[in-house]
Amino acid sequence: MVGMYPGSFDPITYGHLDIIKRASKIVDKLFVCVLENNKKKPLFYTDIRVKMIKECIKEYDNVEVVSYSGLSVELANKLNANVIIRGLRATTDFEYELQMSQTNKKLDSNIETIFLTTDIKYSYLSSSTVKEIASFGGDIKEFVPPVIENEVKSIINLKR
Ligand code: ADP
Repeated sequence: MVGMYPGSFDPITYGHLDIIKRASKIVDKLFVCVLENNKKKPLFYTDIRVKMIKECIKEYDNVEVVSYSGLSVELANKLNANVIIRGLRATTDFEYELQMSQTNKKLDSNIETIFLTTDIKYSYLSSSTVKEIASFGGDIKEFVPPVIENEVKSIINLKR
């Protein structure tokens, strides 16, 4: 089974990394797919997000990182992926995720979406929270690996 884990990862957090670790045990091959989503006005360019994720997933032999724009199901077909992996934190994620998975099913009925529920440790954690805390000079050590912490701090200092 080949899986794709799409998202913005702006930046990747321990919550995302927990999903990657668990998904990598379920599928034979996992592609982490970084969406070039300009609507969300990302803090990091797509290439930098890809590079940062690569730094964090070195220990997994079956995980690869790619970037994309456009439809997830189209990329899934290109990568020969038959499942889309998504994480669920709270009920607030549910409606959006349900709509996305049903839309994707409509677009391509061969691709299933598998949801992994968050580890309770990370249920409050999102990339936006990390950016917000960092922008006010708060400590983000608990939320992201050291290499990501450094990148976030430097870009936020640059923007000041
Ligand atoms: P998107 O813009 O596609 O929502 P994100 O990078 O915010 O991109 O999230 C990608 C996926 O990772 C989503 O399925 C999201 O629910 C999941 N995710 C994000 N943070 C966590 C977390 N702390 N625990 C579990 N899943 C998470």
